[in-house]
Amino acid sequence: MEKFERIELIKKLSNAEGISGFEDNVLEIVKNQVNDIYNVERDSMNNLYINNISKENRKKPLVMLEAHSDEVGFMVQSIEANGLLKFVPIGGWSSQQVQAHKVKVLTSNGKYLKGIISSTPVHFLKGDGKMELKDMFVDVGVFSYDEAIEKGIEIGSPIVPDVECEYLEDSKLFLGKAFDDRVGCAIITEVMKDLKNHMESLNVEVSGVLSSQEEVGLRGAIVSSQRVCPDLAIVLEAPPADDTFRNKYTSQGGLRNGVQIRHIDPTMIANPRFVKFIKDTAKKYNIKYQETVRESGGTNAGKIHLENLGIPTVVLGVPTRYAHSHHGFVSLEDYESTLELVKALLKELNEEIIKNF
Ligand SMILES: [Zn+2]
Repeated sequence: MEKFERIELIKKLSNAEGISGFEDNVLEIVKNQVNDIYNVERDSMNNLYINNISKENRKKPLVMLEAHSDEVGFMVQSIEANGLLKFVPIGGWSSQQVQAHKVKVLTSNGKYLKGIISSTPVHFLKGDGKMELKDMFVDVGVFSYDEAIEKGIEIGSPIVPDVECEYLEDSKLFLGKAFDDRVGCAIITEVMKDLKNHMESLNVEVSGVLSSQEEVGLRGAIVSSQRVCPDLAIVLEAPPADDTFRNKYTSQGGLRNGVQIRHIDPTMIANPRFVKFIKDTAKKYNIKYQETVRESGGTNAGKIHLENLGIPTVVLGVPTRYAHSHHGFVSLEDYESTLELVKALLKELNEEIIKNF
């Protein structure tokens, strides 16, 4: 993919609205990129399958490239008499990171209404002003319950951060929302497009999967990994960066430090033989990488590696500063290291190697 096209794809996916269960706009973007090349299907969970090949029809081992399509956001729980919207979080949010930010609320006519998450002006503030999510509201600029209803606000309306992604040419960083995990979706899109003309030359078959509902408990991946039943899985993620508060020896998710290879997190111990193969491949292809041992968090890999009587699985990540907030940074260089590593792995993998993992 040309650089311009790549930047546009990442921006588009970052901008797409898609809280857990409502990932349709994300799926649409990816589908439009690949459905003239592959068979593309969606299931009732909202998982998207690109080039899914049933077990009987496989001539070679199947590698599943997986990313999640959903983002963290909110949902309207009720509408107050004064038109303010009470909401619940969808996915993990810190109450410290939401007040005074712009959001968009999906209305019954399919349009988004802009709003602000309420906050107390300094003039009226008592104490430190810390507030819990349950005490905040979304203000969409209406003044009564009836007006909110007229505008198409419903109980259950999804709410997403209102952020327009920018690519900063000087620093080669993207500034936007939902890089977790839209960069994963972009990598899968690019790899699948790239394989268009040489899938045959590989010693593996490759399917791309965008799983839904990761942020609410890895739900889509439980279904998608059972449906695909792969022989090997590579999970593409956008893990939180730690280089703003750790030093160069303890930071394991630094921007511009390359693709991040995850050894463990509370949901999975990565197959160590597969991890070694990945590091050897990165060295062979001169791809910059960093390694992490995580004490917290978890990814869809936690579910996937337990399917099909055990699937060798790894998580490769593009570190994202300020994940699960309105605004984050990712580096184009790290994105490209991750993309190159996935392509190199697909080139090097074969049945014999996978058997020995
Ligand atoms: Zn994620």
